[in-house]
Amino acid sequence: MLKLDPEAFATEPALPLFREEHDAYREAARDFVAGVITGNVEAWEVDREYPRELFRTVGAAGHFGAQFDPRWGGAGPDLVASAVFTEELARCGSAGLVADLRAHAGFACRYLDRYGTDEQKQRYLAPSIAGELVGGVGVVEVDGAGTVDGLALRAVRDGDDWVLDGADALVLNGSWADYLIVPAASDTSTPDPEVLLFILDTTASGVERHRDLRGGWRTAHTAALSCTAVRVSDENRLGRPGDEVAAITEQLVWERLVLALGAVVAAEVSLEQAIAYTRERQAFGRPVASFQVWQHRFADLGTEVELARSLTYHALRLYVAEEEGEDVLPGELDRATAMAKLYTDRVAQRTADECVQAHGGAGYLTEYPAQRYWRDTRLGVPGGGSDDTLREIVARSYGL
Ligand SMILES: Cc1cc2nc3c(=O)[nH]c(=O)nc-3n(C[C@H](O)[C@H](O)[C@H](O)COP(=O)(O)OP(=O)(O)OC[C@H]3O[C@@H](n4cnc5c(N)ncnc54)[C@H](O)[C@@H]3O)c2cc1C
Repeated sequence: MLKLDPEAFATEPALPLFREEHDAYREAARDFVAGVITGNVEAWEVDREYPRELFRTVGAAGHFGAQFDPRWGGAGPDLVASAVFTEELARCGSAGLVADLRAHAGFACRYLDRYGTDEQKQRYLAPSIAGELVGGVGVVEVDGAGTVDGLALRAVRDGDDWVLDGADALVLNGSWADYLIVPAASDTSTPDPEVLLFILDTTASGVERHRDLRGGWRTAHTAALSCTAVRVSDENRLGRPGDEVAAITEQLVWERLVLALGAVVAAEVSLEQAIAYTRERQAFGRPVASFQVWQHRFADLGTEVELARSLTYHALRLYVAEEEGEDVLPGELDRATAMAKLYTDRVAQRTADECVQAHGGAGYLTEYPAQRYWRDTRLGVPGGGSDDTLREIVARSYGL
């Protein structure tokens, strides 16, 4: 007689993901993004620039605060609402700008919130939630075995200060951030140096930043950062000593989830645009959308987008459940998040590629956003944890 233990299969917590207030917030966030951002995106993409003032506008409207405590000016903590804003922001179609805002609120603020002292929160987190300060995160890869890769900075203790030297590439908001959360190795002569985390004030003497040029994500403010004998007070050390690698690993899980949420929306929007275009565009006397080959292609892409969304929402549900103290199997969240990012970024890339195709030659013109999605979604695959690293995490979860 077959006997099943339902508990053994209960990896999906029985939580509704979006409640009524999230649906209402989604509408408000969608209107805000449409009204304040989307209409400017074409011009900002051409200029490769948008006003830094946007941080204040978004902050003043409360959209950076969803997951943070009201004590620091937040409106939460509500991770799901923060996920809703991530999705709605991604609808604007300027992946670089989205990445900047996400790196600020989703990553830098989150480090401060989770690992900062009250004094650090007062000084950096509260004004960041208000959009008065801009932050970024220059972090490193951590694989499934917890191995840290790519520590770019070295920190040496000197009296009450630390002295930072080294250079890091590709830090979002790097060119205009007021502060950056950076990891540094205490002693680079050993194969396994101690990892420290700092809040680096970018006005400090010895800090240099150079904004880089990118194939896509054109509005982003990624920069190469270099530190030459930069003095950082011990008060700006972040996190409990010894817990830094765990903090980085924990943050990377959230970051992957946020990137997956954005990738699903990018895929969804580029598909919607391609369908709309092919309804209008005539070829051989009929709309392109009337050819069965395109109908089937769209059906396949739509199915993949929904699969990507399901995988991502599954990971988000696990994340929220774990935060709320529900039982989640060890390693389950890590694996689910890695799978979500692995799959969604490839789906977004495939969808954007087919959508350029659906536009024919016009898809390559800047007149249509299709080419932008095609350029922008490409970075999702290596960015924020390359798919090879994610496969490592999944493989390790199988004990390999
Ligand atoms: C526009 C932009 C913005 C960015 N913003 C930020 C930011 O704000 N903060 C930040 O910290 N980082 C940022 N990054 C960096 C980004 O996270 C990294 O580029 C990404 O994690 C990949 O690391 P890497 O470039 O060092 O690639 P590498 O590690 O050099 O990888 C090169 C190749 O080797 C493969 N590889 C690596 N490890 C393994 C392995 N174990 N097994 C098999 N293959 C492997 C990779 O998949 C890749 O194909 C940004 C990058 C870009 C392009």
